[in-house]
Amino acid sequence: MNILLTGSAGFVGSHLAERFLKDGHRVVGVDNYLSGQTRNTELLGGYPAFRFVEADVSVGLPEGLADEEGGFGAVLHFASPASPPHYQQHPVDTLRVGAQGTENTLELARRCGARFMLASTSEVYGDPQVHPQPESYWGHVNPNGLRSCYDEAKRYAEAITMAYHRHHGVDTRILRIFNTYGPRMRADDGRVVTNFINQALAGRPLTVYGDGAQTRSFQYVDDLVEGIVRLLEAPHHGPVNIGNPDEYTILQFAELIRDRINPGLPIIHEPMPEDDPRQRRPDITLARERLGWAPQVTLEQGLDRTVAYFRELSRGTGPQEVR
Ligand code: NAD
Ligand code: UDP
Repeated sequence: MNILLTGSAGFVGSHLAERFLKDGHRVVGVDNYLSGQTRNTELLGGYPAFRFVEADVSVGLPEGLADEEGGFGAVLHFASPASPPHYQQHPVDTLRVGAQGTENTLELARRCGARFMLASTSEVYGDPQVHPQPESYWGHVNPNGLRSCYDEAKRYAEAITMAYHRHHGVDTRILRIFNTYGPRMRADDGRVVTNFINQALAGRPLTVYGDGAQTRSFQYVDDLVEGIVRLLEAPHHGPVNIGNPDEYTILQFAELIRDRINPGLPIIHEPMPEDDPRQRRPDITLARERLGWAPQVTLEQGLDRTVAYFRELSRGTGPQEVR
């Protein structure tokens, strides 16, 4: 199958492209490097069935791309900054890639008769008042706060995806991804996994925001990729949560990482960011029942692989965390 994947130079996109290439598909990756890395494109360039197009999907996809490639069987829209410091540095670009970017990729899928998948997010649940979060929960989102550029862009993206499905008959999928980590995250992306690992590797204190009682549930990237491949094959058009229900407070998470890397390090507290969700944990009943999917990689296994990656990286470039 010919697959068009936006966000191929990003963390999730690069793993997903590689899985498709290993499965024998052809992949055209599109990215503008807003939050991606050239090293991911170089890695994928090692596969003859990969082609890279540098473009801003919010502006549009290159004229004639589908004809040159002989059409696409699937279009997957994964382009969007995902780390809170990144999307808050680029709020307008984030809204545009969720709005115009989603419309442009949906339009391409409609013209090609391709299947379409949107990478949505657990952030559509906002600061949830229902716990754990099932797909039927409508969420609790501040429509104009600091996180709204991301949350509302993704909520709009879900709405226009369903509109293309209902109005134009496009064969769509909506994937709600919960916190995912693994090798190839940007060391400086400011998310909690990269900050804690790189702080511990550099012998610096781990920075817990607030009292650390807020919770997250962390999924290893290989589990996510398996869920994506299964969802693409399943005739289900409503949203599907893909995440690991194993929930930790951020303080527990800091202690876990510190104790695996450098047990003597202090944990310090910094101010809690605005609108930071207090709790997050996926209800994955739907994915279990409809996709036969469940996470396989434990947090300890996933962290060991991720720490090994950043240890290697830090020998060369000395990654720094950002806020
Ligand atoms: P990432 O920042 O590593 O990758 C996103 C990629 O999209 C980057 O390479 C970036 O350059 C590219 N991009 C952004 N705007 C673009 C534009 N206008 N045109 C072309 N390319 C553009 O983030 P990620 O963690 O790999 O996330 C990938 C997708 O998964 C995103 O849509 C994100 O919202 C979603 N998601 C991720 C997580 C997670 O925990 N990683 C959780 C929920 C949802
Ligand atoms: N966080 C933290 N220290 C850091 C980075 C993040 O305590 O150095 C917290 C953040 O406030 C949030 C959680 O960790 O409660 C997860 O943050 P992340 O940015 O990874 O993703 P989010 O789930 O908030 O989108």
